[in-house]
Amino acid sequence: MIEVKGLSKAFGEKEVLKQISADFEAGVTSLVIGASGSGKSTLARCLVGLIEPDEGEVLYDGRDFVHMTAKERKTVRKEIGFLFQGSALFDYFTVRENVRFPLDILTDLSSKEKEMRVDSVLERVELTEAHALYPSELSGGMKKRVGIARAISPKPRYLFCDEPNSGLDPQTSIIIDALIQEITKENEMTTLVITHDMNSVIEIGEYIMFIHYGEKWWEGTNQEIMETDNKEILDFVNASGMMTRKRM
Ligand code: ADP
Ligand code: MG
Repeated sequence: MIEVKGLSKAFGEKEVLKQISADFEAGVTSLVIGASGSGKSTLARCLVGLIEPDEGEVLYDGRDFVHMTAKERKTVRKEIGFLFQGSALFDYFTVRENVRFPLDILTDLSSKEKEMRVDSVLERVELTEAHALYPSELSGGMKKRVGIARAISPKPRYLFCDEPNSGLDPQTSIIIDALIQEITKENEMTTLVITHDMNSVIEIGEYIMFIHYGEKWWEGTNQEIMETDNKEILDFVNASGMMTRKRM
């Protein structure tokens, strides 16, 4: 699990994160939602050490990431998988080479072990047939699945996904969301998904944290978010064009 305690970050005068605390549990796909500019990406960047918070702690299964040495951080970073916006695949690598890449840089596995690992994750995301294709030959949903396969091939304990549904149609989005949630459970990963997609919130929202101007404004489940009277949440939901309340 990842525990966040009293995390604050300002850029100059501007307080972007204000005393954020939250527990992200293993085996759960936690969603971080909020309007554009609310601080979601800044939170994710603080969690993985791309920027330093001004205050607070980030504990990776009890290990205080903010205050550890660079060497200790490297160990934790190797346990984190990333699914980037737009998949960020290497265009000149095949599907198979893309998925093998993190194994080459992060693990000491033998070549045979790596190939076996690649085969097993490609099978998991149903891309065995596509292993020799290049990204330009794939659909958006397939690229996203390669991104997932690449993120999980080194067996990370933690997975960060920034807007995994950007550029996908609603049906493909549901498939990708479900896949992330299933893999999170199968591997007991601690998964954080940054999203503004209300469909994801409804489909896989086991734990949702809503950020409003850098504050943790609300947390709860998809069931609870449909019943809340919190004004800022309702504004956010309405802005996304979805009616969640009192559907009859
Ligand atoms: P979100 O991901 O929710 O859209 P961000 O975390 O990217 O929001 O940004 C939150 C706020 O912090 C925005 O007002 C943004 O302009 C500001 N911000 C983000 N990064 C920086 C930075 N490196 N320097 C100054 N301001 C920043
Ligand atoms: Mg962002």
